[in-house]
Amino acid sequence: MSAPIALLSVYDKSNLLELANGLHTAGVRLLGSGGTAKKIREAGIPIEDVSDITKAPEMLGGRVKTLHPAVHGGILARSIPSDEQDLKAQSISPISIVVCNLYPFTETISKPDCSLADAVEEIDIGGVTLLRAAAKNHERVSILSDPADYQEFLEAWKNGKGDVGQATRSKLALKAFEMTAKYDDAISGYFRQQYASSELPKEKLAGSVQRTALRYGANPHQKPAQAYVTEGELPFKALCGSPGYINLLDALNSYALVKELQEALGLPAAASFKHVSPAGAAVGQELNEVEKKVYGVDDLKEPLTPLASAYARARGADRMSSFGDFIALSAPCDLATARIISREVSDGVIAPGYAPEALEVLSKKKGGKYCVLQMDPNYTPAEIETRQVYGVHMQQRRNDAKIEAKLFENLVTKNKELPTQALTDLIVATLALKYTQSNSVAYAYRGAIVGIGAGQQSRIHCTRLAGTKADLWWLRHHARVLALPFKKGVKRAEKANAIDLYVSGELLEGGEKAQWEGLFESIPEPFTAEERVAHAKQLDGVACSSDAFFPFPDNVHRARKSGVKYLAAPSGSVMDAECIKAADEHDIVFAHTSLRLFHH
Ligand code: 5GP
Repeated sequence: MSAPIALLSVYDKSNLLELANGLHTAGVRLLGSGGTAKKIREAGIPIEDVSDITKAPEMLGGRVKTLHPAVHGGILARSIPSDEQDLKAQSISPISIVVCNLYPFTETISKPDCSLADAVEEIDIGGVTLLRAAAKNHERVSILSDPADYQEFLEAWKNGKGDVGQATRSKLALKAFEMTAKYDDAISGYFRQQYASSELPKEKLAGSVQRTALRYGANPHQKPAQAYVTEGELPFKALCGSPGYINLLDALNSYALVKELQEALGLPAAASFKHVSPAGAAVGQELNEVEKKVYGVDDLKEPLTPLASAYARARGADRMSSFGDFIALSAPCDLATARIISREVSDGVIAPGYAPEALEVLSKKKGGKYCVLQMDPNYTPAEIETRQVYGVHMQQRRNDAKIEAKLFENLVTKNKELPTQALTDLIVATLALKYTQSNSVAYAYRGAIVGIGAGQQSRIHCTRLAGTKADLWWLRHHARVLALPFKKGVKRAEKANAIDLYVSGELLEGGEKAQWEGLFESIPEPFTAEERVAHAKQLDGVACSSDAFFPFPDNVHRARKSGVKYLAAPSGSVMDAECIKAADEHDIVFAHTSLRLFHH
């Protein structure tokens, strides 16, 4: 039987001589590409050149070294009669071991003076082919892609008398596949930066853009920054301005939320995002006269469309938090919605389209720098999503759980009466949580979030935070707040801040007090504790949802204090029975959803 053959072609030549010597001593016939063979031969170890079997010299300055049927036939041939016959017909010997590592593409491109030509020359062709071919045929061939593995391999080869075993060959093949994948990623990443246009197209939807450069990442010192897709094109284009890194996080999360809200409830939806959580989200349920005042749209000239009502509710739930928001709209932006947006402080908006008159209004905002993104409504994100944290890639299936009526069918309390409006509100609250940083709890009323507690480590803190926000939102409906005697010329944002200080009952002193009082024609009387309690009691029928189970019944008791009548949370807590008991005590309707909705 002829000696097994090993083909060696390595850029990184560490541990090479020890391996070559070990293989030679074990009776393996060695073949090498130019530089590799030279180094081994100079050490006194017998080795043949690849060109001896290909009968073709290395050419094109090293671009073609091992790319030849005599090499790849020898690697790829299976132990089956037809392949063996093919080899025999061409006088090709099977190769059992391939040792290969690649030109250092990543190191080359990270040098500051690396030119495009330098980078191109550093793209390994034959090496990748060797790795892939040998890894593909790992049923028979061993592929050594890492010098750290040589020693162990030699021992296994000697112990197994020339057979390292299938498990070792499989492990080595996986390593080689990962090496070529990483290498290809580095190459496509480099060329994406060189060639993909970074200008978001202004004229056509889903333009031919794969990436967009961003000014910086989460903070100004985090440069460079970019957004890109590895397949197809970016699903949005900028009609005006350009998005930043956090803008895009907000835009893509909030658009997903409003799209799903519209699908679930058949009404246009809007969201107002800040720091990758909603400050508000709503569907386009009509506003009554009091709500128009609370949400600051009673003076709007255009009649409120359903989309405008949705945004008014989303923006008005927590005006403090929505300051400088990123807005998402589920339907094409109309004039009324654009008018509301135009007078608020906001960073940008994403929508599947814009009426020409709406775009005209928005394009004047912020001196033409307001970010207006148009989303491709037919875009479907990939099923698997990948992110990198501290250098480690993590993958998961996208959270594609549907939030719909049947999720709330398991009513576990004595009271099982869930009116249509309450079901709508539970869907709004629960869908908002799907796109809120966890832990999270949301309260909803009349198709809108009215209080949201995001990113807290303890559930009761979410429930309290959301409850306090809902309380302040409700106090803003008080007749005395609606009639606050603001001086002429006080700006909308100043009014929002002043109202927030008033309803929160914050004790003001010194300059802050004088400044606050200076906004009014006459100084408003603060609310007494009794007035607050009496007003709070008038709110009932609020829906509340939690992104995970309630660990203690304190959450249920706290929710009730903010008018909660309808609750939804997954089951699974050892205290489930206690929580149901607490809900029964308040005659609350409690739905166990069996769906956890953590979002990070
Ligand atoms: P050597 O130092 O032996 O001349 O070259 C080894 C390097 O060449 C290895 O990094 C290997 O991946 C690469 N290589 C092997 N075959 C080919 C080929 O046909 N074309 C190119 N461009 N590189 C090759």
